[in-house]
Amino acid sequence: MPKAAVFWDRDNTLMADPGYLSDPDQVALLPGAAEALRRASAAGYENIVVSNQSGVARGLFDEPTLERIHDRLCALLAAEGARLDAIYYCPYLPGDEAVVEQYRQDSDLRKPKPGMLVKASLERRIDLPASWSVGDALRDVQAGRAAGCRTILLHTDSEPKPADAKDPAVDFIARSPVEAVEIILAHSADGEGKPQAARQAHATADQREVAVVLHEILAFLKTADRRAQTHDFSLARLAGVIVQILALAALLWAAFGWFFAIDDLLGTHMLRMLMALLLQTLALTLFVAASRK
Ligand SMILES: [Mg+2]
Repeated sequence: MPKAAVFWDRDNTLMADPGYLSDPDQVALLPGAAEALRRASAAGYENIVVSNQSGVARGLFDEPTLERIHDRLCALLAAEGARLDAIYYCPYLPGDEAVVEQYRQDSDLRKPKPGMLVKASLERRIDLPASWSVGDALRDVQAGRAAGCRTILLHTDSEPKPADAKDPAVDFIARSPVEAVEIILAHSADGEGKPQAARQAHATADQREVAVVLHEILAFLKTADRRAQTHDFSLARLAGVIVQILALAALLWAAFGWFFAIDDLLGTHMLRMLMALLLQTLALTLFVAASRK
């Protein structure tokens, strides 16, 4: 059964953001981050970080360093009894500021695009309309909205800019990660126990449309998988092979009779040739049927 998730931004949402943090020893949790994750987990949500990390493309740190930063983040959370179920990050950046060529590209993973959330939903069977996106930047909620989630804009130190607060991608505004989780729990139909139950009550038409598209993608992937599994063997393919052998046998029989003049009647050879042609046509038909299965 698909699960619901809370997609958390990383910097200035769960941990302090000094700007392109590159030292694992500098990782510091923000107040309430661990409690928020604990309560979301207890309510049945997966906690998934989705984070733009253009520092990789900018040459400020590499992916192994980023992994160590995330190991440190998980260790600090574990010390407070909280956990992250998965971390997704986008190392890419388009334009001249990306000095590492292999990461200089536009990417659907980079927020405000929803690529990381969609990828997580496909890999982890996440129910996006039942899920939430929480972050301190407008691009966080825009990515969540584009993925079909409900959204919470975090503003920890001041009132949000009026333009941000009115953005159509913002469903709710919270002053802390804990307040964000309280909003999530309050809008889950059965409280802390069953996040999925809220899905039908709160899904908008747009969210349902995104869910349908994602469902189609999943269905296509499953069909492709079935095709791959049936590629090696099928009854139609087996029948095709047998008929193909019979067609070749009929052809050889006709040629042998013609060459050695075993039959005097031209019609007998032609009959065998015709049989070989019919069998060959049948074999091809079976192969085509097997490939379309
Ligand atoms: Mg942030």
